[in-house]
Amino acid sequence: MNLILLGPPGAGKGTQAKILEEQYGLKQLSTGDMLRAAIAAGTETGLKAKAIMDKGDLVSDDVIVGIVSERLDKPDVAKGVVFDGFPRTPAQAEALDKMLAGRGSKLDAVIEMRADDEALVGRIAGRFTCKTCGKSYHDKFQPTKKPGVCDNCGGTEFVRRADDNEKTVRDRLQVYNRQTAPLVSYYAKAGKLSVVDGMAEIGAVTASIAKVLNGVAKG
Ligand code: ADP
Ligand code: AMP
Repeated sequence: MNLILLGPPGAGKGTQAKILEEQYGLKQLSTGDMLRAAIAAGTETGLKAKAIMDKGDLVSDDVIVGIVSERLDKPDVAKGVVFDGFPRTPAQAEALDKMLAGRGSKLDAVIEMRADDEALVGRIAGRFTCKTCGKSYHDKFQPTKKPGVCDNCGGTEFVRRADDNEKTVRDRLQVYNRQTAPLVSYYAKAGKLSVVDGMAEIGAVTASIAKVLNGVAKG
């Protein structure tokens, strides 16, 4: 099964994608994580992407489609993919349809996670992630169970993203509304769209997503 979690920064895509990996054996494909890995590795793509990401703008469709296409050729995506933060433009959505069709596969569902802008700013401001496994936490809404230790992998190092500050978040929300929100009607027209309330508690959001996926599995 291949699905897209579509939603603004802070909607909870990464949080739910990690849960879906565990529950359904799917692979999370986060283009943001891939770009941050490229920056950390000092690759040419990473160097070019960094300045764009720091401003909250979008990296070019060509670069993004290139890294996703390479990733889809790896064997670990065979059971299916949770796309997180991709596609972000109509051109990327069209490219994804082609990439999947070219691999004898297709998109099964698109889940739009809706949340209020002010709540999103608060979520992003308190976000930190495990340096080892990438699990997202929040100072207030989702702290680690044991202070300073990742619930998932026991890691003790955490990172806060350079672009997770209020100014950049507001810019990223505008970019989302302008460039990515049109995908809602793209996928509604294709009959693939379901909407969940991203403002609910994490467990309630997981349950809403499970309901959608059960419906998809039954056809
Ligand atoms: P995204 O991947 O969509 O940018 P994340 O999954 O990283 O968002 O979540 C952003 C922040 O909000 C994280 O700190 C996360 O712990 C927290 N969070 C995620 N889902 C919820 C929720 N339903 N309620 C409250 N906080 C949440
Ligand atoms: P994210 O981790 O999804 O919040 O993405 C962080 C940043 O990476 C974004 O603000 C963009 O600059 C860049 N980025 C991630 N995914 C994409 C994408 N699909 N298209 C363009 N830029 C992206």
